[in-house]
Amino acid sequence: MRVTQLFTKTSKTAPADEVAKNARLLIQAGYIHKEMAGVYTFLPLGLRVLENICTIIREEMDAIGGQELKLTTLQDAEIWKATGRWDDEAVDVWFKTRLKNDTELGLGPTHEEPLVRAVKPFVNSYKDLPFLAYQIQTKFRNETRAKSGVMRGREFLMKDMYSFARTQAEHDEIYEKVKQAYYRVYERLGIGEQTFLTFASGGMFSQYSHEFQTVSEAGEDTIYLDREKKIAVNEEVNNDDVLAELGLERSKLEAVKAAEVGNIFTLKDKFSGPLELTFTDEAGEQHNVLMGCYGIGPSRLIGVITELMADDKGLVWHDNIAPFKVYLARLGMDDQVVAAADKLYDELTASGVDVLYDDRDARPGEKFADADLLGIPHRVVVSAKTVEQDSFEYKKRTDADSSMLSAESLKSLLTRPA
Ligand code: ATP
Ligand code: MG
Repeated sequence: MRVTQLFTKTSKTAPADEVAKNARLLIQAGYIHKEMAGVYTFLPLGLRVLENICTIIREEMDAIGGQELKLTTLQDAEIWKATGRWDDEAVDVWFKTRLKNDTELGLGPTHEEPLVRAVKPFVNSYKDLPFLAYQIQTKFRNETRAKSGVMRGREFLMKDMYSFARTQAEHDEIYEKVKQAYYRVYERLGIGEQTFLTFASGGMFSQYSHEFQTVSEAGEDTIYLDREKKIAVNEEVNNDDVLAELGLERSKLEAVKAAEVGNIFTLKDKFSGPLELTFTDEAGEQHNVLMGCYGIGPSRLIGVITELMADDKGLVWHDNIAPFKVYLARLGMDDQVVAAADKLYDELTASGVDVLYDDRDARPGEKFADADLLGIPHRVVVSAKTVEQDSFEYKKRTDADSSMLSAESLKSLLTRPA
């Protein structure tokens, strides 16, 4: 894409009304627009990152047999009453509304109830199980605090997956498979090293649930981390019994701030019981289906990654999720320079490389500042000097120095898979 065609522009200054670094930078770079506190629009660049994150999540969920669907935002109060979760005392983040005839509706804050109802017609016998269903969908939560930019939205994107199993052993196997898929997601997002499996309370249904926590000063949680063992416990389960059971020593735990980027739960028959999702086994006996739920927050992830990776010049994106892989800065409007830059742009684009081509008639300093602020991982400069030397100037966003490369080595570098 050409910069002259992109309707968003970078701004010289960060917005005054934002405190969170992620929102300040993402707004300044034109990735998002603030509608109101905790509610953000994803502009073209931001949407590209969000979609790239979702693609990675989708690929990993599909690889373990997840089947994608899309539930509705509008929620029927009746089904939530059946599980006791319609009450504002039980779920304190509901946005509720009404039909013209006064029937109560809600905007989905999570989707266990409607999914159970939607799969029920298809689940009768042991032969219909197990399966995994997921969606990537907008959730609505009337969060009390919305000061962390896109890390805590009142309207935000969630990947929520649900497992349906016959036996505890079958559930445990699926749960472990999802856990491994989650590790792969964070690895591919470029935050594998900073993201730790964290033991949390399992509620009434299992001993533990697990959070995936990314260590960051901007996080709202505190976790107690054993860096060697690469596991942590959260506040709720930080007690001597749990530590002993997990083989952790208090003296080796480090208290660190972290952001929850995923959460996996064993639900047993918490929902299948009241909503009567049952199956008949080989012997003709009826049982409740055993469920699990598995969340990841793609929009929170953009915030977390921004907080972690950005430097004093702006955003920094990993190749796997960057809105564009290459920032092609053309310096000058000489025919030869324009021809060389156009040619490289066409060739890279034809090889499937996403290029943001700065074809503006602007000063070099302005172009370099934008390349840095936007966080595009690879910068290529075409100028009178590079044309004269029949080469290109190349620099990685995270490197200080550039180097001169031939067209051939540049192209092989940029078309190499990440
Ligand atoms: P938190 O503890 O941060 O309030 P949660 O435990 O309520 O989150 P879940 O209901 O398990 O979160 O949601 C699954 C995932 O969705 C979370 O791990 C997080 O990544 C993301 N998420 C939850 N709430 C928000 C929010 N308000 N804004 C953005 N992402 C969110
Ligand atoms: Mg949580």
